[in-house]
Amino acid sequence: MIDHDVVIVGGGLAGCRAAVEIARMNPSLSVAVIAKTHPIRSHSVAAQGGMAASLKNVDSEDSWEAHAFDTVKGSDYLADQDAVEILTREAPDVVIDLEHMGVLFSRLPDGRIAQRAFGGHSHNRTCYAADKTGHAILHELVNNLRRYGVHIYDEWYVMRLILEEEQAKGLVMFRIRDGHLEVVRAKAVMFATGGYGRVYNTTSNDFASTGDGLAMTAAAGLPLEDMEFVQFHPTGVYGVGVLISEAVRGEGAYLVNSEGDRFMKTYAPSRMELAPRDITSRAIVKEIRAGRGIHRDGSAGGPFVHLDVRHLGREKIMSRIPFAWEEAHRLLGVDAVHEPIPVRPTVHYSMGGIPTNTDGQVRSGDETLVEGFFAAGETACVSVHGANRLGSNSLLECVVYGRRTGAAIARYVQNRKLPDLNETPYLSEARQRIQTLLDQRGEHRINTVRQAFQDCMTDHCGVFRTEEVMQAGLQKLQTIRQQAGNIFLDDKGKLWNTELIEALELQSLLTVGEIILTGALNRKESRGSHCREDCPDRDDVNFLQHTMAYYSPAGIELRYRPVTITQFQPQERKY
Ligand SMILES: Cc1cc2nc3c(=O)[nH]c(=O)nc-3n(C[C@H](O)[C@H](O)[C@H](O)COP(=O)(O)OP(=O)(O)OC[C@H]3O[C@@H](n4cnc5c(N)ncnc54)[C@H](O)[C@@H]3O)c2cc1C
Repeated sequence: MIDHDVVIVGGGLAGCRAAVEIARMNPSLSVAVIAKTHPIRSHSVAAQGGMAASLKNVDSEDSWEAHAFDTVKGSDYLADQDAVEILTREAPDVVIDLEHMGVLFSRLPDGRIAQRAFGGHSHNRTCYAADKTGHAILHELVNNLRRYGVHIYDEWYVMRLILEEEQAKGLVMFRIRDGHLEVVRAKAVMFATGGYGRVYNTTSNDFASTGDGLAMTAAAGLPLEDMEFVQFHPTGVYGVGVLISEAVRGEGAYLVNSEGDRFMKTYAPSRMELAPRDITSRAIVKEIRAGRGIHRDGSAGGPFVHLDVRHLGREKIMSRIPFAWEEAHRLLGVDAVHEPIPVRPTVHYSMGGIPTNTDGQVRSGDETLVEGFFAAGETACVSVHGANRLGSNSLLECVVYGRRTGAAIARYVQNRKLPDLNETPYLSEARQRIQTLLDQRGEHRINTVRQAFQDCMTDHCGVFRTEEVMQAGLQKLQTIRQQAGNIFLDDKGKLWNTELIEALELQSLLTVGEIILTGALNRKESRGSHCREDCPDRDDVNFLQHTMAYYSPAGIELRYRPVTITQFQPQERKY
């Protein structure tokens, strides 16, 4: 058994920022960061457009209150407003702190940090490093981990959270290189395991975004919050789903249908292309359904719309959004200086997750907390995004709540002893689980089952939803689950058995998918990203509440928790 004071699962922005904070506050603590990828390959590295903070460098009228209002309105009033206040108040400070760590933000001519427009934000407040912001921040954070002597376990796969009597005591992990199993015991465990984009067949997320942390939390009998809120980003590259950053529209790009119309004037006349993502994604799908999508040969009735940047000119395209140009060129052979980019919505972000309080401590119910268990970043739901996240608020959440959670953990573990833990049953259970997968002579391939699952989620719980379609989806999931229990692995070895990891990840995906569908079926209203064609209105009387889903193999139990409202009373959401 390996002992650390603190063990953090996840080497993305949230995990790394928490680790840095713990090490800064108490350098004598032994802190470990575990990641199934190398930390700098975490999905955070792919973040493009930027990070919101009311620095007022470009727009002197901006304020944290305006940022808070935009965030709450963007969330369709489901965000917890105390958590949003913290997010937006602390934003300028965390950006400056990152810049002091060495992050190279893009600059204004006078040397201050530049800020651009972003969807749903009423002021230009998004700080950025060209369109490679996540790369700039994550590299600097990982460098700092090394400086502070944080222990990094890279390419270890965590397969179980150890929870005894409502206290997290550690976890079980194995080294991908050679299959070596270990139990790690700690005074505090933190999950910063990112999102679950791979639940769907078209996503902007990396291959590692399989929702493992969510599934492990659910398997431990703890609730997941607001999982039905899945963000579709409006501009995925057609056919692949890879992201074209919202920064492109922030810099002035147009969305155009087959008639050459900037159709957003019908859906969000005041914000146009910079409406929030839920509204813009629905607008694109409606245009495509109405036959105003475009085909590859340019004719009408096709499956995508155009994102047009030609009017920005080569110089601006190459200096502000070079990565978007590269992606369109690399993936589709489109030179965006001269041609529009084919785009359609792609699954992008998880608004829901592991419920936490504003110190990152995990909730087991409305009033109760889990001892020794913390979460932050995309996998967590402190609920700053409610039913729809605004662009550039996620990197911010990772850094603000990563820092806060790190500070809370440093305080929590002070004067605490390591918990009593017998590792033997956990090791044998893990060994057994792996051996069963390797030995079983099933008839299905992982790829086929995963594809069927991803297609099922995409067809039955997409941008638009109805009871009938979701019921049918849940039925299909039962069959897919049976197939997943009857898979066959070619690789029986211990060395770099990536097929085994895919098998474990498939189990995570299935659990997460079932929770998403169940929550969506029960929420009989439309709010933010959750759009029910059979219940088109928002219903504050019955559903201005957070869903808390308790998973067990026998079924999912749903309870509801009140939303915290402080400054902003719910209103109709118009742009
Ligand atoms: C293409 C793209 C562009 C984006 N652009 C922006 C943007 O401009 N602005 C913005 O605010 N947001 C953006 N986002 C969203 C934002 O980047 C993410 O929400 C955020 O970076 C998530 O960070 P994280 O630390 O929570 O998790 P991640 O960065 O996803 O890291 C998860 C970590 O957990 C580890 N892990 C997971 N499961 C296991 C396991 N079982 N065992 C061991 N380790 C595990 C992984 O290895 C990884 O290290 C973008 C997202 C994408 C996909």
